[in-house]
Amino acid sequence: MSAVAFCVIHDKRRTLSVELIHVSGNTDCLLGKTAVGVYRIDDTRCILFDNGYSKEYDELVGSLKDAGLTPAGLIVSHAHIDHHGNSKRLREAFQIPLAMSLGEAGLIASQAALERYTNYFGRSEEEKISIDTEQRCPVDCIIQPEDTSVTLCGVTFPVHHLPGHSLDHIVIGTPDGVCFAGDALLTENVLRHVKLPYCDHVGLDLESKEAITKLPYQHWILSHKGPFDGNIRELADKNMDLVRLRLAELAKLLQRPMTRDEFYQESRRLIGMHIGTYDQLIRQERHLRPYLEQLVIDGTARLEVKNDTIYFYLNE
Ligand SMILES: [Zn+2]
Repeated sequence: MSAVAFCVIHDKRRTLSVELIHVSGNTDCLLGKTAVGVYRIDDTRCILFDNGYSKEYDELVGSLKDAGLTPAGLIVSHAHIDHHGNSKRLREAFQIPLAMSLGEAGLIASQAALERYTNYFGRSEEEKISIDTEQRCPVDCIIQPEDTSVTLCGVTFPVHHLPGHSLDHIVIGTPDGVCFAGDALLTENVLRHVKLPYCDHVGLDLESKEAITKLPYQHWILSHKGPFDGNIRELADKNMDLVRLRLAELAKLLQRPMTRDEFYQESRRLIGMHIGTYDQLIRQERHLRPYLEQLVIDGTARLEVKNDTIYFYLNE
């Protein structure tokens, strides 16, 4: 997978571990290509925070079974396929409720919404299949924008609305003082390799990366690392530094007025994005577009129409 794939780089050789990693109290973590948080309600039932790629379904369910656990409820941070890939299958197989934020639930409510969100022309072959088989799914418990917690199976979990990486991304706490951070922060390892951090809305993402440092948790689970005991303030700063660096680099390109396509072309060259396939090209545009929009939103750039064509200019 390319370094600018939809979420982050993944190592295809890794599989889910067969043992749960204990984090704190009743909270554990299953670490596969995406971390799955596990909160034990009792000796046999658990709530899952995110649920990984669909191709890891058997390993996920098998690992839980080995630990004597059966899923009793699902809470999902956002609707990307590496976090939400098993929601539909788990919900149906175990007849359990799925909880998601209002915005993310809306994205997966219909074929049309998913096609619009992923950009009809921008869907990879993998996404075209997964829209029908995995992503479109009813949500039983919709977390409203004003909600600060969600209760599933009698357990109340704090909810923090931290949008930006995706439109209505949430971060979930456990009664044990563990924060399941979803994709609100990238790990240092991912930051070293990723060329352009994915954000649906760059400005909101920066605000959320600052806001997460104010959350009162002792333990963290990061989606692409698992348990994290480092300094969240330092990690958030490194995340924000990379986003701001890329914004500044991309802004300089607009010293020469450019069309949207010219901007994408120059940006790919600047950042060193490898282009091999139609899917890669479209995905890279999906990554770049929110950065271009942010430059206009924050007043760094403006757009003007000349000869029936939109050009982007750097504001002096
Ligand atoms: Zn994501």
